[in-house]
Order: sequence, then structure tokens, then C-alpha cells
Amino acid sequence: MTERVLIVEDEAKIALLLRDYLRADSFDVDILDHGDVVVEFVRANQPDFILLDLMLPGTSGLDLCREIRAFSDVPIIMITARVEEIDRLLGLELGADDYICKPFSPREVIARIRAIQRRMRRKIDTEASATVLSYLGLRIDLERFEARVDNALLDLTPLEWRLLHKLMSKPGRVYSREVLMNAIYDDNRIVSDRTIDTHIKNLRNKLKAADAGSEWITSVYGVGYKLD
Ligand code: CA
Repeated sequence: MTERVLIVEDEAKIALLLRDYLRADSFDVDILDHGDVVVEFVRANQPDFILLDLMLPGTSGLDLCREIRAFSDVPIIMITARVEEIDRLLGLELGADDYICKPFSPREVIARIRAIQRRMRRKIDTEASATVLSYLGLRIDLERFEARVDNALLDLTPLEWRLLHKLMSKPGRVYSREVLMNAIYDDNRIVSDRTIDTHIKNLRNKLKAADAGSEWITSVYGVGYKLD
């Protein structure tokens, strides 16, 4: 299947050069040159990769990276004009998968994309073979559909179990209600935010009760929930 790369870059010369190289390497390419249209485009078109310039007219690459991460795991490579900017970006923990500095060769960009693809494939392989996820005192067994806190078995509903599974797949990562809903319902049904809040509340209470009142799940105001 042809993979689709979204280039977000307001310098037409760079964007077109990248596009030509990516096309020659058999990617499909879209280009956006304004920050304000990116989130909507990503939601509607779900690209396989995003090359995201930091300095853009409209919404900055920084804010875009955060906004996209709230609903999507799509690999993002941030592009910056200054190499010293990369350290600062790393410190912000935006959730970008890689950083690249201008001037770059299109070849290098493609090499980075390939590297991320290899990492993703390895991760999928490991995830497929792993039957137990654990984080601090929390363990879930994917074959037995069991969850334990400090070895005490939790009595979870199937939905609560799936929620916990999703949150445990990346502790510390904030998941939006939308992402959590997609994780727990197989069909694309529309449910209200309150539904997810209720399941989270019940899951939280069960974890708390099993672990001497510890808060395992934190709500992040206006964004969603995380495990930490
Ligand atoms: Ca720019």
C-alpha cells in the first residue's frame, strides 16, 4: 500500500523538492503551507507520516504537534531551521518521533522516515508477542484478560479492561476522550464524553480501592486522561 506523507512547510522550494524525492521513492504526498488548516486535514485524511516545519504562518509547528498528538499516533518529524532549537524541542516532550534541521538533504529525510517505519514494525512485532504489560505495580495479562494491582486481581468490566489496556500501552501519554472511545468500542458509534468519563471514574475507583487510595489515572484538563 502506498504510504501518504503530509508535508507542512511554507517555503515552497523546500516543500516541492521534498515532494519530488518522496514521490520518486513511491510515497503519495500532500503539501500544506499554513498552520491553521493542518489539524482538520490530518483528521480528515489520516496521513501515514507528517513532516512538520516549526515556523509556519498561523498555528506554529509546536502547537500543531501537540494538537495532533491529542488524537493521533501518526509519526511526526519536526523540521527546524536552527540546530540549537532541537534540544529545546526535546525538552518540551511534544511527542514528535524525530527532529531534523535545515538545510537537510531529501535523502536524509527519507532515511529518517524509513528508520521510523522499521521501529514501528519492530514495536508491532513485540506488542503482538507480549502477553503481559506491566507498569509499576500494575500488570495486565492480555491472554487471560486479567488486571492486577500488587497481585490483587481487579474485577473489571470488558470496557474498563480495554481502557486500562490503552492507557497502559504508553504510561504518561495523555489520551483524548476520542482516542479512548475508539479504543474501547469496535464500531464507530458516537458516545458522549460523559460516557467515557463514567467508565474512567469506575476504573479509577477500582484501582484506588485495590491500592490503598493511590491515584493511577490522572485527568488532564481539557485534553483527556493518562496513567501515571
Ligand atoms: Ca517555515
